[in-house]
Amino acid sequence: MSLHSSNLDTLYRQVIMDHYKNPRNRGDLEGETLHINMNNPTCGDRIQLQLKVEDGKISDAKFLGEGCSISLSSASMMTEVVKGRPVEEALEMSNIFSQMMQGEDYDDETYELGDIEALQGVTKFPARIKCATLAWKAMEKGLNEDDHN
Ligand code: ZN
Repeated sequence: MSLHSSNLDTLYRQVIMDHYKNPRNRGDLEGETLHINMNNPTCGDRIQLQLKVEDGKISDAKFLGEGCSISLSSASMMTEVVKGRPVEEALEMSNIFSQMMQGEDYDDETYELGDIEALQGVTKFPARIKCATLAWKAMEKGLNEDDHN
């Protein structure tokens, strides 16, 4: 992108606020196969992730919870990108996101990361990284403990 970095920060902030104010996939999922609660006590974020996994694929994903703009916008973005994906790909995307949050070089070519990249600015605020990774950790926990895939 050729935008000046402060413009990019503004753009990223707008993407985050959009997901916070208009969350995607917020609500109760009917027929969920996985149900994961996860908290981030340092910030007070609480999330409940519901996934429907069928034939090794995440056919649906929704979340409920309370927390800061970073944690809730991240949950909104995460459910948006993993919905419809094979479990394997969702876990790979989680690894990519984790690399992004550690400020490492990450693979932005294998998958369309879209809005998720707006969260890379969070690495400048180490205390908030756990807010951004909360929903992803919940997904990983659920999928790794699930023996049906
Ligand atoms: Zn938070």
